[in-house]
Amino acid sequence: MSVPSSASQVRPGDETRPLPLQMAPRRRGKPPRHFADLSADERVASVIEAGEKPFRAKQLATHYFTHFTSDPDEMTDLPAATRAALAETMFPQLIRPTKVMEADGGTTVKTLWHLFDDAKVESVLMRYPNRTTLCVSSQAGCGMACPFCATGQLGLTRNLSTAEILEQVRAAFRALDRGEIPGGPARLNNLVFMGMGEPLANYKAIMETVRALVAPQPDGLGMSARNITVSTVGLVPAMRKLADEGIPVTLALSLHAPDDDLRSELVPINTRWSVDETIDAARHYYEVTGRRVSIEYALIKDMNDHGWRADLLGKKLNARGKGWVHVNPIPLNPTPGSIWTASDREVEDEFVARLRGQGIPTTIRDTRGSDIDGACGQLAAEEDDE
Ligand code: SAH
Repeated sequence: MSVPSSASQVRPGDETRPLPLQMAPRRRGKPPRHFADLSADERVASVIEAGEKPFRAKQLATHYFTHFTSDPDEMTDLPAATRAALAETMFPQLIRPTKVMEADGGTTVKTLWHLFDDAKVESVLMRYPNRTTLCVSSQAGCGMACPFCATGQLGLTRNLSTAEILEQVRAAFRALDRGEIPGGPARLNNLVFMGMGEPLANYKAIMETVRALVAPQPDGLGMSARNITVSTVGLVPAMRKLADEGIPVTLALSLHAPDDDLRSELVPINTRWSVDETIDAARHYYEVTGRRVSIEYALIKDMNDHGWRADLLGKKLNARGKGWVHVNPIPLNPTPGSIWTASDREVEDEFVARLRGQGIPTTIRDTRGSDIDGACGQLAAEEDDE
């Protein structure tokens, strides 16, 4: 990966020269329309348009969402003569795995996907003793320009379509179902929008994705909304809109600093919506949905890990009530080119202790996959082929 020189020069205490925020994508081409992009009614309409009987829509949905397949050879309940053509129309190949990396004895798997226009994204599947979690990408690259995040250094190539996101999920369900991940056949329990991209900047597609994730099989994947986490830099109007959707997904807010001066440097969108406005929107989400919000806080040595910042964070959260929020500090995963590093262990412990001391539930997030650059903030699929 080539890292812009401004990123490699960023140092704690230095004057930083951040990348500009990028709200509009560089590319506008749309991927082909796919079955997973369609509502239930549209699925029926497109099957009819393809010259088939309406009930075929349900058969296709069952293949896709219950058996995780789009391969006509596996669709033996469809007429042999038209099966291949129908599958080709309904399930154009949108994502192609070009590199698979494993860690933790094969229970952490990072996949690099090439999209129809050669844009690239990554997803990471993590299997734990009693649960499975997939981290998906919602955009190719990201326009939010956070200087400590590998994806943030790429800029935004384009939004993913609903089906491009759902295809990452289907691949994970399929691998688990077919017993390809050590530990025997399993289901996917948790999904986090913590791969590449800012999910709330691709609002329509991620909401359609969420609807398909929670719809019961065979119309969707039958996941539980509370096991789906949407992580955001804090796009305040979109956070408020999300609260009104009536789907109680878990909201994670990437705060990283409790004061505007530092947060504007670490999370540049803070220049548009301040720390207080952002925390208010998180609190609003809790009030409307009853879902406890997670605050993400990457601990960066000598940057944002001071005791007084833990105290200020606790104070700002408690000022808005008790029991509505918990904090997930994450030791910084160093990214290529940046000399920022994770906080020392004692500093991390002190940070956690101060938050807990104020009565705020605080748990350190694990950094699984860091050795294959698959941990939070490390996803940086290269833009161009070398
Ligand atoms: N754009 C969304 C989701 C993608 S990143 C967001 O920012 O929330 C998922 C999480 O990883 C975010 O909390 C992000 O701030 C964090 N992260 C980014 N770079 C990181 C790094 N180098 N080390 C640790 N966490 C990082």
